[in-house]
Amino acid sequence: MRVAVLSDIHSNLAALDAVLAAVPSVDEVWQLGDVVGYGPAPDEVVGRLRDIGALGVRGNHDAAAVGGPEIESFNVDARRAMEWTRATITAETRTWLAALPERMEREGFTLVHGSPRDPIWEYVTSTPVARAGIAAMDTPYGLHGHTHVPIAYLEDDGRLETMSPGAGSTIAFGRQRALLNPGSVGQPRDGIPTASWLLLDTDAASVTWNRTAYDVGGVQRAMEGAGLPERLVARLAYGL
Ligand code: ZN
Repeated sequence: MRVAVLSDIHSNLAALDAVLAAVPSVDEVWQLGDVVGYGPAPDEVVGRLRDIGALGVRGNHDAAAVGGPEIESFNVDARRAMEWTRATITAETRTWLAALPERMEREGFTLVHGSPRDPIWEYVTSTPVARAGIAAMDTPYGLHGHTHVPIAYLEDDGRLETMSPGAGSTIAFGRQRALLNPGSVGQPRDGIPTASWLLLDTDAASVTWNRTAYDVGGVQRAMEGAGLPERLVARLAYGL
């Protein structure tokens, strides 16, 4: 099965549509949470994912958007954007977000937003946390987001290897256990402003990281029009 794996879209419709236009023929689209938050188009992004039948899980921003206490842990800009999101989204969007599970297993993969042992909040940013995450999975492979940075952790006989994949990097992980992060579609934080996503072939056990350019300026103008925080507007241009 061929799958496009998207994470941290964050209400960025221009980035999502650019990625979907770049995705070759796939069997399914999987999303790893934080569909909303930060960006200016939550209803449109949820509508697009619903239309294409995307499968996936809930992130901390999605949980906050439907009234969850997660908002209490947000920094001031994230909180302002979330209050705007809560006031903006339709009942249909809220219902779709509320139905997202914290975790999903499909085709030998565990899908989570944060980490396999703490699906909503834990950031996988070190090898001990990645190792614990792999140990917490009932499947050989896992997919996660939340950090907005593309990375691969591969475990073989207890040895953990970390790889920072660039655009076009392909990894074959058939014999190893793997925990893979596609990076962020809507708010990359690895210093590269283009949308980051994965093309996964579950039969070949191979995965390719991709970057797709989109109209950053248009999204920034929409954010300014919505009164979203200036720091969130500015960071899209730098990918940080
Ligand atoms: Zn996020």
